Amino acid sequence: MRSLAYPLRHPLTEVAGSNDDDFGARLARLCDLLGIAGAQLTTATDSGSAIIAAVGPAADNLALLQARALPGPHRLVLPDIAAAGPSGARFYVGLKLPSAAGGSPLLLSLFDPKPRAAHMAERIAGLAQELVTDATVEQLRQVIECQAKVIAESIQMEQLRRELFERASATAKIGVWQCDLADNSLLWTNGVYDLFEIERGTQVTRELSLSCYTEASRRQMEAARAHAIATCTDFALTVEIITVRGKRRWMRLTGAVESRNGVATRIFGMKQDVTEEKLMADRTRYLAEFDVMTGLANRSQFQAHLAGFDAQGGNGSGALLLVDLDGFKQVNDTYGHALGDECLKEAALRLTASCANAQLVARIGGDEFAVLLGPATPADAAEALAEGIVATIGQPFVRGGHTFKLGASVGVAHYRGGFSQDLFRQADTALYAAKDAGRNTSRTYRADAA
Ligand code: GH3
Ligand code: MG
Repeated sequence: MRSLAYPLRHPLTEVAGSNDDDFGARLARLCDLLGIAGAQLTTATDSGSAIIAAVGPAADNLALLQARALPGPHRLVLPDIAAAGPSGARFYVGLKLPSAAGGSPLLLSLFDPKPRAAHMAERIAGLAQELVTDATVEQLRQVIECQAKVIAESIQMEQLRRELFERASATAKIGVWQCDLADNSLLWTNGVYDLFEIERGTQVTRELSLSCYTEASRRQMEAARAHAIATCTDFALTVEIITVRGKRRWMRLTGAVESRNGVATRIFGMKQDVTEEKLMADRTRYLAEFDVMTGLANRSQFQAHLAGFDAQGGNGSGALLLVDLDGFKQVNDTYGHALGDECLKEAALRLTASCANAQLVARIGGDEFAVLLGPATPADAAEALAEGIVATIGQPFVRGGHTFKLGASVGVAHYRGGFSQDLFRQADTALYAAKDAGRNTSRTYRADAA
């Protein structure tokens, strides 16, 4: 036995003293004092028994002995447990410490792999009981309560952290997901459930998740995912989903692959609702490229397409038609701007209908439109189309109780090499020629006549 470093008068006060909370060290001193191999201090919890401190060798029957001692009388003394296996305690004393009202019971277990004679066992139990004063137990309780408070506070902290995460996720419309590649099982945070409009906490399968993707997005995502798994890399893409409640949404999906020994084991990442951003970006792109009133390509998109002729390096072919409504100022003056707009929309519809094979139909000015014909256009097709446009736009129609009969002049220029701006100038010259010829007709630019 090791020598005692403190007087015997208040040994357990020292053992469970208040200067530090290291119960293990104090139990070790108690073992020395009583000449036994091990001791444990346990308390009953909702989910069973919790060890507060333990010293000495492992004993595989200890939990059973404690379960027997805890609900029993004040103390349980077993001098020689014949049924103990080779790694079990042969000697056991279970001492229930006086518990404060409402407090959870404390149990001090003393044990040894060697049995004791009955009178020795009783002496050890008696001595231990003497050493454990009310004051000691109270100190123990205070420390346990303190520990319980720390645990409760850390649980609270964890809850707070989770709440903050959920709130931040909801604001950013972000959810975290993970897929275990061993069985494809999924784990989602609330943000992902909300994104898919699936009830939070529902057991989700990959099939359910995939069924929400549009066909094109599903194919795109599967390809990116398969590549990331094969190469153990990350992936990111924007996909379109239809929630279980039928809402169309755009989702930014990122994934990182985790691997062990070069084999992918888990994918995890974020899913973010980017519907608003996507619609805004689409709208911005639309406004940059299209005329809002007629839905036709705008002047800027037309210029970009026209510049395509420059890229052909002078060897290309194709044609440009410029269409300008005749006497349109008069339409506005007579019927007002709103009905004027209706006439522009009608003209745009008719133009689109008659130019089904055109590369581009654009509104490039107030009442001015452009039609680009690609290289595959047959020789006389541009002139035939120009005549068709004049005829179509000339067909009367009724708007706001008035009958309108618009007229259009068309200038045609064939591309024979050179710069696109020259082609534009030639079509414009031809348009002026059509206007000069009395309007409601078409003219083709001829280099020899210029
Ligand atoms: P021309 O026969 O020589 O083409 O003469 P025009 O009266 O058609 O006049 P011009 O082509 O020179 O001018 C186009 C007119 O179209 C000017 C303006 O009153 C009208 N306009 C331009 N933009 C709009 C628009 O967005 N809505 C409406 N209602 N009218 C427009
Ligand atoms: Mg005009």
